[in-house]
Amino acid sequence: MDIKSNIDSIKAKLPENVTLIAVSKTKPISMLLDAYNAGQRHFGENYVQELVEKHELLPSDINWHFIGHLQSNKVKYIAPFVYLIHGVDSFSLLKEINKQALKNNRTINCLLQIYIAKEESKFGLDAQEVENLLITKEFSELTHINIVGLMGMATNTEDEAILHKEFESLNTLFKYLKANIGNKPNLNLQEISMGMSSDYEIAIKHGSTMIRVGSSIFGVRNYNQ
Ligand SMILES: *Cc1c(COP(=O)(O)O)cnc(C)c1O
Repeated sequence: MDIKSNIDSIKAKLPENVTLIAVSKTKPISMLLDAYNAGQRHFGENYVQELVEKHELLPSDINWHFIGHLQSNKVKYIAPFVYLIHGVDSFSLLKEINKQALKNNRTINCLLQIYIAKEESKFGLDAQEVENLLITKEFSELTHINIVGLMGMATNTEDEAILHKEFESLNTLFKYLKANIGNKPNLNLQEISMGMSSDYEIAIKHGSTMIRVGSSIFGVRNYNQ
């Protein structure tokens, strides 16, 4: 397993405006260091405790992305250092992130997770819910968060027609929100986080600016997480 050549071959396929996030959940520090030494600076983790531990052990110029499902009572552990929280799917979570950001005297960048897949189990807001959230007065009062874009996960399928349709639906919503709500002090839509190892090339065709890639860099994970 040559992590550097995996990263290089993915990067060679990416347009300049697309950020590669190396998803390192369950992988040992030595592998993350291999990626770091290959120039990788954006890493994604799904579990709070694992993220905190890895952050403490690795160089300080890494941008840490939290890409899992975040529970409100754990925000405080990552608030001091997290670079971007991808999976925000409720106002109450956003409120807690704002509170912890304030305590740490910083602004925390977030993506709102949008439900685009057919599967029942996926988290996220739908188009109406996200619009409703962004136009409330309560939202404008959250001065220590910055919503920089949207995140979505497509259905786990090899049917490319479904993938195209789901990624395009996120792109359409992104453009709609940009045109109809526009920017606010805490809303600056720039990023669409979509695409994983199996589907990132399709996601890029539909405007992805951040791909979250794990197994194509680090190899398959030992257990299903
Ligand atoms: C694990 C995970 C990924 C990476 O998945 P791969 O198929 O290994 O590339 C991307 N996004 C999220 C939200 C994940 O949980």
